[in-house]
Amino acid sequence: MSDQIASQPSCADPFDPASISLDEALRRIAERVQPVHACERLPIRECLDRVNHEIVSSPSNVPPHANSAMDGFALAVASLQQDGITEFEQIGTAYAGNAFEGSVSAGQCVRIMTGGLIPQGADAVIMQEQTEVTAEGKVRIDANHRVGENIREAGEDIKQGAAVIDAGVRLSPADLGVLASLGIAQLQVKRKPVVAFFSTGDELMPVGEPLAPGKIYDSNRYCLHGMLSRMAVDIVDLGVVRDEPQAMREALENAAAKADLILSTGGVSVGEADFIKPALEEIGSTEFWKIAIKPGRPLTLGQIDASIFIGLPGNPVAVMVTFSQFVVPAIQALAGTRPTRPKLFKARADDRLRKKPGRYEFQRGIATLDETGEWRVGKTGKQGSGILTSMSRANCFIVLPDDNAGVEPGDEVSIQFFDWSL
Ligand code: AMP
Ligand code: MG
Repeated sequence: MSDQIASQPSCADPFDPASISLDEALRRIAERVQPVHACERLPIRECLDRVNHEIVSSPSNVPPHANSAMDGFALAVASLQQDGITEFEQIGTAYAGNAFEGSVSAGQCVRIMTGGLIPQGADAVIMQEQTEVTAEGKVRIDANHRVGENIREAGEDIKQGAAVIDAGVRLSPADLGVLASLGIAQLQVKRKPVVAFFSTGDELMPVGEPLAPGKIYDSNRYCLHGMLSRMAVDIVDLGVVRDEPQAMREALENAAAKADLILSTGGVSVGEADFIKPALEEIGSTEFWKIAIKPGRPLTLGQIDASIFIGLPGNPVAVMVTFSQFVVPAIQALAGTRPTRPKLFKARADDRLRKKPGRYEFQRGIATLDETGEWRVGKTGKQGSGILTSMSRANCFIVLPDDNAGVEPGDEVSIQFFDWSL
């Protein structure tokens, strides 16, 4: 027997040659995920954050008629003298929603409010601040005006027939306003993906019970519930599943019957109590990956019938990191919209950050804008993957690329703000 231990690759190693990159993992997930097919027709208020099914073309012009962008006087520019002041007779008033019915001839003007329809014969609105009204009620206007001044043309925002919202777009509050401005009351959107999730581990207890010896409270399900609640998905919480093959199989079968995506936490490391792998292999297919990121190295991708399974690590910070990097794009693809990559911002580090080259790291940071308009970022104390307060105190990840070998105060780093609502 040798007097040295032949150690196996582990998450303590900076780099494991068997691991795959973050981009490769994303590519493999994208390859598997098929968008949901079914659609539903909903009142537009309920379409917020949902994915538009078919391109929306405008049935009409917005605004429907030319109207005034200012409070002022509508008139024909041709009736202004070339130089000096012209006096106009005011023949009526046009309010928003209450038009002036007559027409404007030379030497006449109409008092007009913002949004009021441009009367026949007028081709400009002179803002009231550029006019004088005499004691006799005449309106005095100088020569410096042009045709079209302060007029919002019909169709200026949206032309009839124009494409306004593409298929596959996740609908924003502004989109709902655009739909309303077109008089569209209901819209076809893709159905919400259903996401089922559970925790694994015999050590886990639900909150609300006194903690038994050797146990810990299950925090992952609460983080997952929070992150999923910010997304347009239906969620099914399947509780805690014991580290036992039969229980695991049943949980997976039950989840697959209900959900498009199944998430679990824990039970995917090389520990002896890892039951996910055999259970998945029995009822579906599976791939186990080591991803060259920290935290969050072990990840499982699988499939049971039409449901995708993503097995996240057990450590709470690793759960949040892998959710933000892999689950968010998987849900976007399922929902039928194009996955977005988290946005990176440049920031100046306030602290020294320890890192070994080899893996892509997500340290937790607090970013603030300094008085020069530059982002500065400090760390949130201990960075262990079980230290969940490092996440709750933070507002961003400090993203350190594979080859980074540590950061000194004043160095420039990339940060990713937390955004669980993509
Ligand atoms: P595992 O991958 O199952 O070995 O879990 C790795 C570590 O994460 C262990 O220390 C677990 O106790 C912890 N852990 C796993 N699941 C949870 C959970 N739902 N809540 C809090 N900690 C967990
Ligand atoms: Mg476990």
